[in-house]
Amino acid sequence: MNELIGRVFHFEKQVFPSNLDLYAKLATDGQSPKALMISCADSRVVPEHIIQAQPGDLFVCRNAGNIVPPFATANGGVSSTVEYAVLALGVRDIIVCGHSDCGAMKALVHPESLDTMPNVAAWLRHSHAAQRVAAEGYPEAEDHQRVRIVAMENIVAQIAHLRTHPSVALAQLRDEIVQWPVDAATAAGWRAAWQSQLGGGGVFVRSSSNSEDLPGFSGAGLYTTVPNVKTGDALEVAVKKVWASVFNPEAWEARTAAGFGAESVLMGVFVQTAIDSTNAGVMITRDPFDAGHPHITYISAKRGIGIRVVEGRRVAEQVMYSSWSKAIQVLSRSAEDTALQLDKDGGVKEVPVEAGRNVLTDELVVRLANVGAAVKRTFNGVDQDIEWATVGDRIVLLQARPYVERRR
Ligand SMILES: [Zn+2]
Repeated sequence: MNELIGRVFHFEKQVFPSNLDLYAKLATDGQSPKALMISCADSRVVPEHIIQAQPGDLFVCRNAGNIVPPFATANGGVSSTVEYAVLALGVRDIIVCGHSDCGAMKALVHPESLDTMPNVAAWLRHSHAAQRVAAEGYPEAEDHQRVRIVAMENIVAQIAHLRTHPSVALAQLRDEIVQWPVDAATAAGWRAAWQSQLGGGGVFVRSSSNSEDLPGFSGAGLYTTVPNVKTGDALEVAVKKVWASVFNPEAWEARTAAGFGAESVLMGVFVQTAIDSTNAGVMITRDPFDAGHPHITYISAKRGIGIRVVEGRRVAEQVMYSSWSKAIQVLSRSAEDTALQLDKDGGVKEVPVEAGRNVLTDELVVRLANVGAAVKRTFNGVDQDIEWATVGDRIVLLQARPYVERRR
């Protein structure tokens, strides 16, 4: 043990200082590992060593026999690791790594060796399929061959288990939908409409489903927007990405909590001219925090294209305006030092902006509130949840939907 403690001191004194830049970057930017690797706890098989990983490269889950139990609602270390890797870190590749001379695989071939280890025996039940395939498919195999066969079949079994995890299953389903072929006549129709109605310029491809704007369920921010699509081929892929976003994990969770399933969802796609906005945001024609406050307009804003405000990823600038007292109450100022702009090659790019300057001027707040009031009047006095943008001095309305109180 003393030897190991000595190595920790060596790490602190020698290894860490010589990799200071990398560790500092990981501390500031957070992690975005290239893959999740599920491997055996065997001390001889070191995933980071095998793929020469640097800190930050690999999200690792190790256990006896590189096992992934099938998904169950009961909490488990492996399922939590898979869910976090896929949903929080956006990991797209999962590696299940078996190895030769695996103690767990040997135990499957000789189950009598587990008599004194009830926990290991129970854990290895998740590999019984592999053991059976080996026994039934290769009855003549010698002992050492059988251990190797079980190790191989065990990887197949654990990958099958991975597919039972909702985060993985949903990601696979979305990928499949994006790869669906679209028949040539339909795709040609999309391109023709894009050319004739929107001049073939950059467009935002957005969701419009029957499972949003419902009483008690807003659905805002659950589905995917593909920004600044500039070619016919990209338009086709973007439409399929929006379709596939029916199976975004946040949409799945929100609908499940609200009590309706994916089979009732119909996803439409709407295509809107891309606007290189100066500022953008969301406006609600009442106080979202207190229904008892009439005459209030809530406005959130950021510089550049407003995708982040809609998706709620960073704190936006937020104000409340009273059309009665004409007072502007500032809830937060945007601390962002970057903004999104249209990229000339399609998509959006992040550009630095001067920090510390207000996004919303008092004059703009009043003008926006007046526009909001006009939209509300147009829709028979129903409070509205409005996406807006500015281009220079011009206010552009991107979308208005009935305001639905968020559940908190
Ligand atoms: Zn092993």
